Amino acid sequence: MADQVVDVVIAGGGPAGLSAALVLGRSLRRVVLIDEGKPRNAVTRLSHGFLTRDGTEPEQLRMLAREELRRYETVDLRHDTIVSVERAADGQFRSLTKEGQAVTSRMLVFATGMKEKLPHWEGLSDVYGRSVFPCPYCDGWELRDAPLALLGNCSDGNLLAHIQLIRTWSRDLVVCTDGAAKLNAEEREQLHERGISLYEQPIAALLSSDGQLTHIELADGQRIARRGAFLTNTGAYEATDIPRQLGVHLEPRGVYQTGNHGLTRLPGLYIIGDAKHAFTGVAGAVSEGYEAGVAINHALSIEDW
Ligand SMILES: Cc1cc2nc3c(=O)[nH]c(=O)nc-3n(C[C@H](O)[C@H](O)[C@H](O)COP(=O)(O)OP(=O)(O)OC[C@H]3O[C@@H](n4cnc5c(N)ncnc54)[C@H](O)[C@@H]3O)c2cc1C
Repeated sequence: MADQVVDVVIAGGGPAGLSAALVLGRSLRRVVLIDEGKPRNAVTRLSHGFLTRDGTEPEQLRMLAREELRRYETVDLRHDTIVSVERAADGQFRSLTKEGQAVTSRMLVFATGMKEKLPHWEGLSDVYGRSVFPCPYCDGWELRDAPLALLGNCSDGNLLAHIQLIRTWSRDLVVCTDGAAKLNAEEREQLHERGISLYEQPIAALLSSDGQLTHIELADGQRIARRGAFLTNTGAYEATDIPRQLGVHLEPRGVYQTGNHGLTRLPGLYIIGDAKHAFTGVAGAVSEGYEAGVAINHALSIEDW
């Protein structure tokens, strides 16, 4: 039996993919959204900073979006994983899933997000998403004026900018770089002038109670009492390799190369959300889904003319 052919397959049902599905559903497009259901922010209790839903459980946000999408009968939501994609001579995409399904589509969107490879500090998994976070815009306000730490170095040599950013939320700040800090003498002096202690010893462990960070333990045994921390780097990498197999290049910073509206060098293949930008936040992901959805519908309407 021939595969079902739809207008768009969307891989990933986070805010980016769901938002694209909404625009496309409202454009009467036949959409199959396939989501593995393992988003990067699942570790966090509450998601902040998205208008009208500030302080909502991440899964609740996705559930509300899925509920809204049920109204659009041309949108089919499936819980599955896309494991490979074949591109036919006519440019259509044939997506194969873990459950053995095949769906052929005119356009394909990857909204598959990133995964994390966190530093190997003992105790980090107990506090990550609870009192130690990747993004101060997401969780800085809840930790305002608390004793904070910035943990890690910056691969891009932009450590000072990171420190300046975190200081927005608290003046009680220390920096633990887990190795020689990528700071010059003048930058070190600036930290000193502002009372920001710098610890360059390796980090041994993060001590906590019920997810609440209490101390940072250094390899020399020193313990620094802290109530919250931010990471300079979570080791994020693309959740799926499929776009690369299809010929999309990875940029040096580890995200896929895309042009306007997330369109890649392959006609009909779009990449949006964290998969495109590494960290968009929920609002940014929703915006990207909307933008790509509009662009895709325009392209399809011209094809259909
Ligand atoms: C700890 C933490 C806390 C955060 N807190 C906030 C916050 O408070 N506010 C905020 O705005 N942002 C926050 N973020 C960032 C936010 O979660 C992301 O920017 C946003 O979710 C990106 O949306 P997305 O749709 O691109 O990807 P995701 O939300 O990651 O969704 C991607 C989806 O694609 C699925 N998938 C992956 N591969 C496949 C495949 N092959 N087939 C099918 N499905 C697949 C995944 O399982 C996942 O469900 C936080 C992130 C982290 C890590």
